[in-house]
Amino acid sequence: MQTALADFIRDTPAGREADTILRSCVHCGFCLPACPTYQLLGDELDSPRGRIYLVKQLLEGQPVTSRTQLHLDRCLTCRACESACPSGVEYGRLIDIGRTLTEERLPRPPAVLLARWLLRRIVPHRRRAALLVGLARSVRWLLPPALERRLPRGRAAPWPPVRHARRVVLLEGCVQWALAPEINAAAANVLDRLGISAIRASAAGCCGALSLHLAAGSEALAQLRHNVDALWPHVAAGADALVFTSSACAAMLGDYGRLLEDDPAYAARARRISAMTRDISQLLDTERAALTATLAQAAGGSRTCAQPVRVAFQAPCTLQHALKVRGAVEPLLSAAGFTLTPVADGQRCCGSAGAYSILQPRLSRQLLRAKLVALEAGAPDVIASANIGCLAHLRSGTALPVRHWVELLAARIAGG
Ligand code: SF4
Ligand code: SF4
Repeated sequence: MQTALADFIRDTPAGREADTILRSCVHCGFCLPACPTYQLLGDELDSPRGRIYLVKQLLEGQPVTSRTQLHLDRCLTCRACESACPSGVEYGRLIDIGRTLTEERLPRPPAVLLARWLLRRIVPHRRRAALLVGLARSVRWLLPPALERRLPRGRAAPWPPVRHARRVVLLEGCVQWALAPEINAAAANVLDRLGISAIRASAAGCCGALSLHLAAGSEALAQLRHNVDALWPHVAAGADALVFTSSACAAMLGDYGRLLEDDPAYAARARRISAMTRDISQLLDTERAALTATLAQAAGGSRTCAQPVRVAFQAPCTLQHALKVRGAVEPLLSAAGFTLTPVADGQRCCGSAGAYSILQPRLSRQLLRAKLVALEAGAPDVIASANIGCLAHLRSGTALPVRHWVELLAARIAGG
């Protein structure tokens, strides 16, 4: 694609990055069938190729209009288009640059600004999110079922003591800490059985993804720098890896090196942190032999015969499109004795997408309904996912239990 970037952006780091991305797009349109919003709305401007044109126009100095904002807002940042693109266009980075420009140049209505500000003020802050969740729990009988089903229902198992020489940092994130602490406790217990101790990094906070995708770039960079400072002592102390049970947060930490590359005080440490970051599926995939042996031992020692439990696995977009982890979780669930049910259109987003379910509720609900039809088609007993946002979103629309897949492994190892 030919470009002629305007003076205001041409010689900036964002301008140079955007120019490279734009030039890699050859307009072929292979990404269109993969795009959930194009599938729903049938409008070229709600497709990856259409949005790439809109961002190109912005960067070439054309005025920012409400139409530009509407179509960029409707993008889920699911990055299914990146998986489908034969030219390797880094669409996810381009849309972040385009959104930041739009946000700077086109004011939003006060009510929308307030909603976005409140999201950024509450969700990434653990104690505020926990307070909100606590309040909601105290009046749960008053809440609509779709909201009530999102509230915590599990109880976290105790974390095992730190007793192994092999150690990883298990990050707790922000909203997951408030909504589902049982997930990290389950992961810590699975890792402990494999001879790996999980250390909490309490000083680290939100990964910064919410602020970044809401076009609050400076705020996101402050969160990144805070986390680099909070995690560095663990890196220096010899931790093997920085592990998330939320694939969206793992994908974000994996980008720290690139996002902080122009900051001389942080660039080297950020690169190292990105290189050490793993989603729990990536870590357990490398431990597959030991895990399989542990599961076999647990099955042999169990006094009750394990029931065949049918599981529908929903692979979050951040796992399959951002981290490019495909086919790692399913064999581990099979090894644990679960029966995987078929799921059509597995590459399609569930509509959660960070704050999307709040800011674009109509499209989000349409995607959720389609996703649940696909997940429930194989008559599963339980739906499993790998990201807290997807878990909460899926729970809002189904009566089936929805769990993180590592909880299922932990239950099997514990003989459940
Ligand atoms: S598939 Fe890739 S190269 Fe083709 S139009 Fe889409 S983004 Fe551009
Ligand atoms: S990120 Fe997802 S919603 Fe956005 S253009 Fe790409 S495929 Fe479509």
